[in-house]
Amino acid sequence: MGTAIQIRNLSKTFPSCKALQDVSLDIDSGEMVALIGASGSGKSTLLRHIAGFIAADAGKIVVLEQLIQQDGKVAPRIRSLRANIGFVFQQFNLVGRLPVITNVLTGLLYRTSLWRSLLMRFSLNERQQALEALVAVGIEQSAWQRAATLSGGQQQRAALARCMVQRAKVILADEPIASLDPESSRNVMELLASMNRKRGCTVVVSLHQVEFALKYCPRTVALHRGCVVYDGPSAALTPQLLGELYGADAKELFGKMLDSPAMKQPEPGLSLAMAAAR
Ligand code: ADP
Ligand code: MG
Repeated sequence: MGTAIQIRNLSKTFPSCKALQDVSLDIDSGEMVALIGASGSGKSTLLRHIAGFIAADAGKIVVLEQLIQQDGKVAPRIRSLRANIGFVFQQFNLVGRLPVITNVLTGLLYRTSLWRSLLMRFSLNERQQALEALVAVGIEQSAWQRAATLSGGQQQRAALARCMVQRAKVILADEPIASLDPESSRNVMELLASMNRKRGCTVVVSLHQVEFALKYCPRTVALHRGCVVYDGPSAALTPQLLGELYGADAKELFGKMLDSPAMKQPEPGLSLAMAAAR
């Protein structure tokens, strides 16, 4: 299978805080990993570094055997390297005044020449691919509507269709369900899971809601103040362990889910020490 994402000793300091502190991670091809943590714990910052949107102070990131950044320098070829990396945002990042299908077609722009992307000229075959992606996410009937007229859940599905057209092998989703109602949240997580299973995409998804991590992601990485404090099976994230990891913040962060039936049974034998050894 091989390693899809390799992160070594990544650190980033903003004037106000240490956003990432010596983060090292290996994510295999075909994994679906949840990234959890309180607001401000560094989830977005980590994902943006993986896509090469930000340069770290120190450390190294390799995605699909290509160097994304090292020692504070982003690879000069980052635009072409990003063709393999789909980024999904909390606020969807569609162009609201353009039709849904055009938004989906912009997934191709990483792979086309500059003049074609400026003119937004797409072939019949490319339009066909975009329609198929919209069928896959279940919103083909909205293909010609302006993106701004779609509900949040539909817009996020369009954003996933854009990743499909892009043929991204790695999908980084930054709190993709934070603005959605529970049903749309489930839909979007199911779609991410199916892109993982059926298309073999490696998925890293940051989530505020631990119950979604438990349900959809076999592995969870937990951040706290820019440090990885847990990396292991999601099933081991018991209320006790969350309490250990987040102390007094656990109740505030995960309050509702700590009472949910899925969290009632601590799994014996899985401890923080084991997680640390991973
Ligand atoms: P999360 O996504 O987990 O909520 P972020 O990665 O957005 O956390 O932020 C981590 C920390 O870095 C926060 O304290 C945040 O204020 C700070 N931060 C993030 N981006 C910037 C930036 N561009 N400039 C200054 N500080 C930032
Ligand atoms: Mg964030």
